[in-house]
Amino acid sequence: MSNLHLALQLLQQNNYKLTKQRHYLLEYLASHEDFYITLTQLDQHMRTFFPKMSHDTIYRNVKEMQQIGVLETKMFQNGLRVKFQCDFHKQEHSHFICQQCGRALEIPLPDFSKTHEQLRNYQINNYHVEIWGICDLCQTKNDSTTKA
Ligand SMILES: [Zn+2]
Ligand SMILES: [Zn+2]
Repeated sequence: MSNLHLALQLLQQNNYKLTKQRHYLLEYLASHEDFYITLTQLDQHMRTFFPKMSHDTIYRNVKEMQQIGVLETKMFQNGLRVKFQCDFHKQEHSHFICQQCGRALEIPLPDFSKTHEQLRNYQINNYHVEIWGICDLCQTKNDSTTKA
């Protein structure tokens, strides 16, 4: 089953009506699942199909779907961005996040053996690793703009 189908299933399990708008929104984010998308970009996409859909409605949908774990949001320097959640794969991984284009590249979890050694008397409930920077494509783009 595709990740999109799993997400739609999760919506129904949480008693959310599967509106056309929610379906389009999820479909768009699922087709960009490796990217944190700006809300502006999401607004623009949704309005090509639903010209009267307000930013508030789109934002409310994002928030609702974030609460049930279908989407995740993250604060970037220039505002909030949204991404299709990737926990459907189940396998633990961390992300390299490009602060420019929002790309979330899946990378293996770092080696935590020294950390576990230091925390051996502690109960660890959760950890979350993110590496932030500028991806290779954005670096190339930046170079060509400064040289031009
Ligand atoms: Zn991921
Ligand atoms: Zn980038």
